[in-house]
Amino acid sequence: LIGMIPFEDAFSKIVDSIKRLPLEKVDLLSGLDCVLAGDIKAGFDIPPFDKSAMDGYAVRSEDLSSQNELLCIGELQAGIFQKFVVNKGECVRIMTGSPLPSGADAVVMKEDTEKKGERIRILKPIRPLANVCSKGEDLQKRDTLLSRGSLLRPLEISLAASLGYAKIKIYRKPGVSILATGNEIIEPGEAIGFGKIFNSNSYLLISILSLMKIPYTYLGIAKDNEDELRSKIEEGLKSDLFILSGGVSVGDYDLVPKVLSMYGVKKIFHGISIKPGKPVFFGNKERCFVFGLPGNPVSVFVGFLLFIKPALDKMMGKKPNLNIQRGRLTADYHQKPGRKQFFPVKAIFNEGWLITPIKDYHGSADLASLKEANGFMITGGEISHLPKDAEVEFILYRKEIGLRNLDRP
Ligand code: AMP
Ligand code: MG
Repeated sequence: LIGMIPFEDAFSKIVDSIKRLPLEKVDLLSGLDCVLAGDIKAGFDIPPFDKSAMDGYAVRSEDLSSQNELLCIGELQAGIFQKFVVNKGECVRIMTGSPLPSGADAVVMKEDTEKKGERIRILKPIRPLANVCSKGEDLQKRDTLLSRGSLLRPLEISLAASLGYAKIKIYRKPGVSILATGNEIIEPGEAIGFGKIFNSNSYLLISILSLMKIPYTYLGIAKDNEDELRSKIEEGLKSDLFILSGGVSVGDYDLVPKVLSMYGVKKIFHGISIKPGKPVFFGNKERCFVFGLPGNPVSVFVGFLLFIKPALDKMMGKKPNLNIQRGRLTADYHQKPGRKQFFPVKAIFNEGWLITPIKDYHGSADLASLKEANGFMITGGEISHLPKDAEVEFILYRKEIGLRNLDRP
């Protein structure tokens, strides 16, 4: 039987029962968009030596108070080891990135000099340390550059590279299995027949997981009978997260919760006071967490955003946030009171967020209505009417599905 717990309880049961996955060591670039599981520390000073910041001449700045011509005794290129001592009245030609030769304490830019054979005329006075990056000025040996828990974006990856890290520790990404259920469900490409419905749910879930670079196993479609469900469910329970769609409601052929329990899945809850998505099932068998989403496509989308995305984030060491924002309605809104509702909207940012409920939305089967939407407005179950300009909460989901800039006027 389906109970009904409040949305907030369902959310906290999910993020409380799911734990971060163990860490693993991966190639630096494979860590992109993962969470760092160990500090990244400098193994040496940066820069590792006093370094020229310019192409020019390494000089003893004090010499230039009494003379403006110096004898050039050689050349230093970046990356080539060559030892020079700059004595009084001397200079060394130096390139950006080369170590400063001993004796010298500043670099004169090439633009501020004139070459006269071996002798270099310096056209401007210079301060000690001018155009020199001092050893350790950016980072000292053993300093922590990135702490455990940091999200590895391109900059963080390049920072780890700058310290010579070829491998890094991250929290492992979950392996996810996906199963569609329903006697009437067929795959795109198959011949449509009376009463058949093309499987769109699996393609939504797989696409989002692909954008998130999360590995998945697609288990296809199971018919609403115990035998087919059993073998696919056994397969799905081998992953970290198992997502089923369809078959969790109270119909005579909604067998998913029963077969899950036959295979050792413990129910954590079944039923949430939300619309759409009321019969959502959540449970686990040991380390495998299981979501059974009702089959209607909008319920699957909402279920993914509200529950599965936070669950995946938690597993990967990220903060399980819902990204709830506030905006103002651009039109009157009516609903039938009952459960907390997630209604598709188009949100546009113009100083603040302007929220337009999608017209002619026909409910959770109406996937086509989502084409113009980029968010779901959240309204309490007690509400029957909200006037234009009322402040409302909504979830913007463009990032999750790879949308860009649809929300700018
Ligand atoms: P159910 O939750 O099994 O009662 O399914 C509810 C509705 O969602 C039914 O109209 C199904 O045909 C539809 N549905 C179930 N699974 C899918 C799917 N994979 N893709 C698209 N629609 C589905
Ligand atoms: Mg069904």
